[in-house]
Amino acid sequence: MFFVPIQRMKNGYNYNGIPTRPRALDRFRKEKEMKCVICKSSDIQKKMIEEEIKSGMDIILVSVEVLVCMNCGERYYDRKTMRKIEDIRSRLKQKDLEVEEVGKVLRAI
Ligand SMILES: [Zn+2]
Repeated sequence: MFFVPIQRMKNGYNYNGIPTRPRALDRFRKEKEMKCVICKSSDIQKKMIEEEIKSGMDIILVSVEVLVCMNCGERYYDRKTMRKIEDIRSRLKQKDLEVEEVGKVLRAI
């Protein structure tokens, strides 16, 4: 038999430091499992980035929040972000997207 610290169990964690409530357990598992598929680093952080969508000779910048591997720079998009990008792509096709000019696209000759 081994001693189970009552205090930790009351705080929502079992004696192995694992959350006992279902939602906290889900979050705990996700954080533990999140590893970069490219370099296996677990240093992954949420960042606001500007995704580039090409349309003919134009480039449209779209601000999205993604998970970025701090080690190799690989980006991870969640379903919501993918939907946002797809939505902007289709609105762009239908010319139903409000945009402003922020620069020029130049080519070296
Ligand atoms: Zn990586």
